[in-house]
Amino acid sequence: MSESKDFLRTIVEEDLKSGKYKEVVTRFPPEPNGFPHIGHAKSIFINFGIARDYNGHCNLRMDDTNPTKEDTKYVEALQDAVEWLGFEWDNQVYFTSDYFPKLYDYAVELIKMGKAYVDSLTEEEIREYRGTVTEAGKRSKYAQRTVEENLDLFERMKKGEFKNGEHILRAKIDMSAANMKMRDPLLYRIRHSHHFRAGNEWSIYPMYDFAHCLSDYIEGISHSICTLEFENNRDIYNWVLDTLELELPRPYQHEFARLAINYTVMSKRKLLELVEGGQVSGWDDPRMPTIAGYRRRGYTPQSILNFCDQIGIAKANSTVDVAQLEFCIRDDLNTKVPRVMCVLDPIKVTIKNYEGSEEIEAPYYPHDVPKEGSRKLPFSKEIYIERDDFNENPPKGYFRLTPQQPVRLRHGFIITYKEVIKDSSGNITEIIAEYHPESKSGSDSSGIKVKSAIQWVDAASAKSVEVRLYDRLYSSEAPEGLEDLNPHSLKVIKNALIEPSVINEKPDERFQFERQGYFYADPIDYTDETPVFNKIVGLKDSYAKKKKAPENTSKTQAKKVQIDGEEAHMSEAQKALFDKYTNELKLNSEVANILARDEHLSSFYEEALSVLNSPVSLANIVVNEVARVLKEKQSDKLKFNATQIAELIKMVDDETISSKIAKEVFEKMAESGENPAQIVESKGLVQISDPSIILPIIDEVIAKNPDNVLKFKAGNTKLLGFFVGQVLKATGGKANPKVVNELVAGKLK
Ligand code: ATP
Ligand code: MG
Repeated sequence: MSESKDFLRTIVEEDLKSGKYKEVVTRFPPEPNGFPHIGHAKSIFINFGIARDYNGHCNLRMDDTNPTKEDTKYVEALQDAVEWLGFEWDNQVYFTSDYFPKLYDYAVELIKMGKAYVDSLTEEEIREYRGTVTEAGKRSKYAQRTVEENLDLFERMKKGEFKNGEHILRAKIDMSAANMKMRDPLLYRIRHSHHFRAGNEWSIYPMYDFAHCLSDYIEGISHSICTLEFENNRDIYNWVLDTLELELPRPYQHEFARLAINYTVMSKRKLLELVEGGQVSGWDDPRMPTIAGYRRRGYTPQSILNFCDQIGIAKANSTVDVAQLEFCIRDDLNTKVPRVMCVLDPIKVTIKNYEGSEEIEAPYYPHDVPKEGSRKLPFSKEIYIERDDFNENPPKGYFRLTPQQPVRLRHGFIITYKEVIKDSSGNITEIIAEYHPESKSGSDSSGIKVKSAIQWVDAASAKSVEVRLYDRLYSSEAPEGLEDLNPHSLKVIKNALIEPSVINEKPDERFQFERQGYFYADPIDYTDETPVFNKIVGLKDSYAKKKKAPENTSKTQAKKVQIDGEEAHMSEAQKALFDKYTNELKLNSEVANILARDEHLSSFYEEALSVLNSPVSLANIVVNEVARVLKEKQSDKLKFNATQIAELIKMVDDETISSKIAKEVFEKMAESGENPAQIVESKGLVQISDPSIILPIIDEVIAKNPDNVLKFKAGNTKLLGFFVGQVLKATGGKANPKVVNELVAGKLK
């Protein structure tokens, strides 16, 4: 599959060659406490993939040692996900809970060897006694209990004679070990809870560090592959197996980097919060990064496997751009799905000089897709086109229908504008046009030149459909919580119009709606009466940050120029602006591209720039925020002007407000037209940089999260972000993130 071997496959090959193992046996060991997400897909791809590549096998094992959060529905979701991705496990799904009796026996054995003891310190004392990274811990006085005492207590723990937390079984290793995990780790805890499989049989449950290595051993796993945060657990893993003197071959643990994706949260806890809070419609909401969500949205298993393959396996954590995942699905569907026409925001066009009706034969697939098939497009006097595809006062570079400019109906005729009909408030309700009989696509002898072809549907035969447009669930690149949700992540269009063959012939479930993107017939809500389509992904990366490939280098791009004309083409004037923006003002090419192509935006931008010399920040707000409001309203209805935007950005630049607050202020400006300074003043949004205000808040956050403080001090430095986030949240986003960062780092030292 991959061209070059990754480090895990290198290890596996060496181990097979040296005869350490006869067969590769891996496992995928999720805890059934949530639906699997794209991170799990990576783990599935690695574990099942390696087993498949080396003719071994991979066990699907539910790591169900925490009775309070687990459920059968999650077991089913995990099975579905593995199957859907195309992997098989032999016969049965394994459960750690099936090993509870064996694990208990192993624990008894450790006690008999004097290697484990029942401790009776409180949770807090245990934490205190553990010491810190720089100080050795001290051992509990209960570690002196005799073997007989320990055996007796442990048995009574099992029988349910004690309350939760009253006793705990610990390994007797080394309270001054440099690896804090080795300071007498916890092996069993009391939990009076019902287990979804084991029922009420157990009052004690094994801890991950004890259960995992032994479950691997029991199943004959050779390579126990996990994510990097378990690196420090490896010592316990080996200690347990070594101390019990288990027969060779034993499993060994190998760590790889966890997948993180920008604009995405990937913790089951946070995903559960969204489901329970109703921010999404369920675990399979098409905006969720769960396998069920991607599946419902229309992603193919192949696209996800390709993504996992592309990102590779590394030993250092990093964040992958979500655009890469979007690229993979686009890339997969591009060579597979039929192209059809759907009009999302219809405006009627009456073709004055056309009478009767006809059917136009149109292929479902472009030339470069090796698939056959075509449909008949009904055509008559009344059709619908996209409202956007007509413009009475077109900006420069607008290539679609205008009073001066004809346009081709995709697969059909060229039409020319005649007049528009408007309602009393001046909105266009209908376009009157003429068609050119000699201009039919494929036999055009009209000699008329057009700059683009647009989608359309025949009014008499088009079907009304619901279209769900999805955007990223979070608007922040590194989302923390609910406050980072994108309020525009779902837009439902109830009455889009689609050509009839899509509904009648059902040539596929996934389609490219020409010029709109890729769409999927929703597997649950779709009915013949009310067809529903989910937007899978757009046709190109509308967020692209990276430099665009040089234009027109390939055939497909050259073709694109014909189809959605103005998007690939730039006039001289636009090109000059683009060059100025990228070279002189150092804007990234996507931002420069958007500005240069849109006269409105660029003049707004230039005006703001004449007030404040902050090219990058201004460009960002104009391209994102201002452009969005412009889209919703007409420019003469904007409540704010360029000078006010410059004032707003100035406050960000000199740290009066944070950029997060700036967004909030902008929304107010767009609503009320108030001056930014006034809004900040009246709402008390001024950024807080004063340590004497911030420090007490930090203290509070630290006091509330003792577990995370411990983890941080034990070396999990990633938690710094957690603390900073909590402090920012506590101040309603008003604290200066830079200052908070420094202060938190200082406090936790
Ligand atoms: P989360 O933190 O999202 O709840 P988890 O690690 O607790 O995930 P588990 O169900 O315990 O989830 O994980 C099952 C397997 O999937 C583990 O081997 C884990 O290493 C792997 N895994 C989980 N998240 C990722 C990820 N983001 N990238 C790669 N592998 C992952
Ligand atoms: Mg976990």
